[in-house]
Amino acid sequence: MSDKVPYLDLAAQIRGIRQELDAALARALDNCSFCLGPDVARFEKDFAAYCDVKHALGFNSGTSALHVAMRLHDIGPGDEVITTPFTFIATSWAISYCGARPVYVDIDDATFNLDPKLIEAAITPRTKAVLPVHLYGQPFDVDAIAAICQKHNLPFVEDAAQAHGAKYKGKTVGGFGSSACFSFYPAKNLGACGEGGALVTNDPALAARAKSLREHGSTVRYHHDEVGYNYRLEGFQGAVLGVKLKYLAQWTNERRRVAMRYHELLANTPLRLPLEAPGVESAWHLYVVRHPQRDALKAHLDANGIGNAIHYPMPLHLQKAYANLGYKPGDFPVAEKASRECLALPMFPELTDAQIQRVATVVQDFFKSR
Ligand SMILES: *Cc1c(COP(=O)(O)O)cnc(C)c1O
Repeated sequence: MSDKVPYLDLAAQIRGIRQELDAALARALDNCSFCLGPDVARFEKDFAAYCDVKHALGFNSGTSALHVAMRLHDIGPGDEVITTPFTFIATSWAISYCGARPVYVDIDDATFNLDPKLIEAAITPRTKAVLPVHLYGQPFDVDAIAAICQKHNLPFVEDAAQAHGAKYKGKTVGGFGSSACFSFYPAKNLGACGEGGALVTNDPALAARAKSLREHGSTVRYHHDEVGYNYRLEGFQGAVLGVKLKYLAQWTNERRRVAMRYHELLANTPLRLPLEAPGVESAWHLYVVRHPQRDALKAHLDANGIGNAIHYPMPLHLQKAYANLGYKPGDFPVAEKASRECLALPMFPELTDAQIQRVATVVQDFFKSR
């Protein structure tokens, strides 16, 4: 057997809800509210309820939502924001866009998330906020980070771009920080048919300011209170997201099914399998295994038609764009090791048991042959 298994199959998801999407897009075309509008407003209300928060605002990307989340704390030149070097680059862009400096702290080897034990040593008088990520869908250690932030009177913002519906001690992520940001990039757990994002918060004043910053720093048309942006979510994307949100809980359960099946089938291989920290429920955005021979394993999967990806091959402190920050190899050994060892296997709700078994067989063959 040499069946291919894709890394991600968006077509399978669209197929299942195609008629509903067609109808929703046709209605959006009829109502002509192409920027924000009623579909976005309805989705915002539903997404706030889903995240168990008071306010949700649609943005045109997760990156722009994160940028505004930083602006909400008046972060600017000379300021520092503590964050993780092991994430998608957009987490750090939000800090850089404000002219501030990302200050990296290494990750926890078990969870890939920001290590709370290392945060305090990185705090300086210039520190203005902490920006941790719920990486791969697994909530970071909220209690530990909240305690440090409270002690030092610092806000924290959740980068929840990969963690729609993930739970920490029974509570959905998004309501822990001063605000939280989500991405609706098509490959995320909840994806638009294009770009999209959201900022959620329980604080009415932050919500009002974020709403203004999203729309040119304006609440009354042609009157601008501060320098803002065009970060509005499109009406079409609101329509698509409104349809998809109804399926998100079910899709997250399916992701969990896939993860648990991988756990079973790969348990007796030399791979390090992803774990859920006690008290958390991952949204299983990605299923990331680890092995020192990652590159050879990747080549073996590629050769056998098994989709896979490296999230992320280079930690942020070693990126060319951040050479000016003055970091060097060895500064964050846990993140650097993770970047050499991590490999994501196919993960999406529609993955069949036969496909999962095929992935496991190819992985097992790799270890048999050495
Ligand atoms: C996807 C992602 C973002 C950026 O979201 P976009 O919608 O692509 O702009 C930010 N942070 C993390 C961790 C992400 O995975």
